[in-house]
Amino acid sequence: MNETVKAVVITGPGRPLETRRFPAPRPRPGGAVLEMIASEVCGTDVHLFHGRLSGVPYPIIPGHVNCGRVLETNGSLADVEGRPLEPGRLVTFFDVFGTCGNCWHCLVAKAATRCPHRKVYGITTSAADGLLGGWAERIEILPGVRLLPLPDGLDALDFMGGGCGLPTGFHAVERAGVSLGDAVVVQGSGPVGLNAAIFAQLSGALRVFVLGAPRARLDAALRLGAEDALNIEEVADAADRIAWVRDRTAGRGADVVIEASGNPAAVPEGLEMLRDAGRYVVVGQYTDAGDVSLNPHRHINRKHATILGCWGYEFTHLHRAIEMMSRHNARFRWRDLITRVYPIEEATQALQDMERLSVVKAVIRPQSFSGKDAHTAGL
Ligand SMILES: [Zn+2]
Ligand SMILES: [Zn+2]
Repeated sequence: MNETVKAVVITGPGRPLETRRFPAPRPRPGGAVLEMIASEVCGTDVHLFHGRLSGVPYPIIPGHVNCGRVLETNGSLADVEGRPLEPGRLVTFFDVFGTCGNCWHCLVAKAATRCPHRKVYGITTSAADGLLGGWAERIEILPGVRLLPLPDGLDALDFMGGGCGLPTGFHAVERAGVSLGDAVVVQGSGPVGLNAAIFAQLSGALRVFVLGAPRARLDAALRLGAEDALNIEEVADAADRIAWVRDRTAGRGADVVIEASGNPAAVPEGLEMLRDAGRYVVVGQYTDAGDVSLNPHRHINRKHATILGCWGYEFTHLHRAIEMMSRHNARFRWRDLITRVYPIEEATQALQDMERLSVVKAVIRPQSFSGKDAHTAGL
């Protein structure tokens, strides 16, 4: 029997998406195959589509944050707490694999997200190596890839409403070391910024302010508990935005500022929004969008600022972020961040909508659920 499954392929930078058929994968020893339920569409996929990331082995199947059901395993598999993962279980997985635990970065610097052997599903995996991206009816879980069962009470769309912004925002807030009672400014209202606003509150921030655009994302920020939100399309002058923050922080600036905007100009602006001896985390500059000038005396030295970068996330961030989501889902309702769910055939539309920011969160539904209702399918 030559069963095949459908997948969407980015064949090269700027080239139209193609739907291709692949042989149905069989799990390798210690691995598994998932029936895909939902896959994220995020800013990274737009960058991949345009070829803005280096070292991408086109053609690729995009989709790095995914949710599916275990279809088949090869040998018994367990989650990190030793609980068995059997066919039928609703799971996600840590999209990073190949981190060696053996190199200078892993062993000496203890900076696993900078391990040169690290690979990421849907980003640095080639379609020539199989179904290793989520815009596909099935996905292969390679041996060693960590599966995480979704906790009871969370379904696929709850989790996908967080997407990769969930562990990324979590990691940024952890880096920021938010203290009880802090005033936190988040620059950027995309999924990373919105999740940073959530986790800042859960870390004890008393007040959270979000600067971004468009309006729908700022409305989401307010719903998620931001005290105030500023539309950068309406307030185009950086000096006015800095004044907006200072007006709300007794003229001093915020204790913590988290940059999640993707715009290099946000960095000197954000440092002006930071109080003396505050902490600044840069998580939004995922691609190289260019240089910017700083005043080292004013922005760093005299300010006594702590400035931190934040690259990717580790298993611990994903694991703890999901546990937090499970506990706090009634309050933050992550699934409400999903503006639209696209059938796999409309992947191009999903990318276009993401690029135009006309959606807060977009999700691909790889299966056509003919004959099954959405609930049975995990949606
Ligand atoms: Zn390593
Ligand atoms: Zn992503």
